[in-house]
Amino acid sequence: MSLAGVYLHIPFCKSRCSYCDFATDVWRDAASVDRYVDALTSEIRSSKIEIQSSIDTIYFGGGTPSLLSPEQVERILEQIRIRFDISDADAIEITMEMNPATVSLETLESYRRLGVNRASFGVQTFNDRDLKLLARGHDANDARETFKMLRNAAFSNISLDLIAGLPGQTIDDWTRNLDEAIAMSPEHISLYLLEIHEGTPLAEQVRSGRRTPIDDELAAEMYELMLDKLAASGFRQYEISNFAKPGFGSRHNTKYWTLDPVYGYGVSAHSFDGTQRYANVRDTAAYVNAIESGSSPESFREDIDRESESIFLGLRLERGVRLSEEAHTKYKKEIDQLIADDLIQFVDSRIKLTRRGKLFSNDVFAAFV
Ligand code: SF4
Repeated sequence: MSLAGVYLHIPFCKSRCSYCDFATDVWRDAASVDRYVDALTSEIRSSKIEIQSSIDTIYFGGGTPSLLSPEQVERILEQIRIRFDISDADAIEITMEMNPATVSLETLESYRRLGVNRASFGVQTFNDRDLKLLARGHDANDARETFKMLRNAAFSNISLDLIAGLPGQTIDDWTRNLDEAIAMSPEHISLYLLEIHEGTPLAEQVRSGRRTPIDDELAAEMYELMLDKLAASGFRQYEISNFAKPGFGSRHNTKYWTLDPVYGYGVSAHSFDGTQRYANVRDTAAYVNAIESGSSPESFREDIDRESESIFLGLRLERGVRLSEEAHTKYKKEIDQLIADDLIQFVDSRIKLTRRGKLFSNDVFAAFV
């Protein structure tokens, strides 16, 4: 059985991006961040995990975890090392999400010394006009400089995040983004299609007619272009949105698609213990207050339907998913229809998305929910 992973949510950012609906707060002062780190370490210390406590991945997500000082990162990692069994300390994957212009070379070197060995770097786009639209708080040059700094600090496993489908983005803009990302030669690239969430400033701009979302046809063209360019550049697509050079797939994120346990800590952090999925409250003050008063920050818990989830999560992976005989019988009608629609295919007794299925993956997943 695969080992578990630990996820840590760091909910602070320098400013708020126009499309963001994550649980984040604008960075206020060092004291309140320190108080949050105290709450986080306290939650890890007191967590009751009985099913499995050996881990081989740790993931700092956010927010912008690279706003943490090395001392704060060290305190969190120390607590994880006390609470969990890390049988192979040299092999553990420790990822930190980072944003351009949030770190110095010295800080990056300190993170490396503490064991952080993978950077998930939020570039999103190299186009300054689009960075302004997204209110990212940095320009393309900041991204280029921070990437160089990561390499200078000996990060040899870097993932770049890009977002496609921005209002006003053309296929030429997207081509230039892909070309520049590939030319930087990261080990991993994650690509997302922009989602416009209710309640965000971007949703308001769309509603008022100031921005127009791209149409489905252009989105599909962007996705197809990305598949071709990345394959031609030596990146293997191992999941719908994720591409890696050989040996550089994200071990942590793969746990979500293979239903391995991941224990989440911090505000809005989600966990899966092998049987149940549960999550903490989404409000940072409520989370800290709950921990400080000795109550549980948990706001949600459910049993999962393992059979159905292992199919639609497994279908996200390039290798697809092997069906049990029972599952095959239960979903025969859906499977036959999806094959007839050229959305899935059987390869070596596993079902996999076809290229067309990757474009309409939500329709495929819905068949198994
Ligand atoms: S950096 Fe990420 S988490 Fe922070 S506001 Fe922007 S999109 Fe949200």
